[in-house]
Amino acid sequence: MPNKLRLGWFTFTCCEDNSILFLELMNKNYFEWKRMIDFRYCKMLKSHNVLDSLDVAFIEGAISNDKEKEKLLEIRAKSKYLVAVGGCAVTGYPSAQRNDFTPEQKAKIAPFLEKWGLYGIVQRPDQIVRIDDKVPGCPMIEEIFLKVLDKYLIEFKAKIGGE
Ligand code: SF4
Repeated sequence: MPNKLRLGWFTFTCCEDNSILFLELMNKNYFEWKRMIDFRYCKMLKSHNVLDSLDVAFIEGAISNDKEKEKLLEIRAKSKYLVAVGGCAVTGYPSAQRNDFTPEQKAKIAPFLEKWGLYGIVQRPDQIVRIDDKVPGCPMIEEIFLKVLDKYLIEFKAKIGGE
């Protein structure tokens, strides 16, 4: 029997289109993935989620407050590999667009940032933790995501020899 890949999927500041794409991919792949993947933490699939030891964690979105930063550090500490999916996690943009606001625009949003405890400068995840793989695109490019997932399925012997 092959091992199961212990997978987590996490969302930070973004529009969550990568999650939607992942769900769309399940229309084709769910039953095959279910044999190979232990969805330890995946809120789009189940309500009871465990953040313990993960083989690979996929993260979407940029980091825009202390709570997200702490969660990202926790995920990094508990995951063998961390993969940034989608433009917001890879480059920060478009979620980080307020970083480029004019001084006047920044003054206008300052009360909202203070009220909600948000950073004035949104951060890319790789400014905070080490990232092992990146899946670019807005939303993520499907073919690259599937290749990266496949690589980890094979590495963790959840899929034998790229069958
Ligand atoms: S990269 Fe684009 S599609 Fe993906 S979460 Fe950000 S805004 Fe949404």
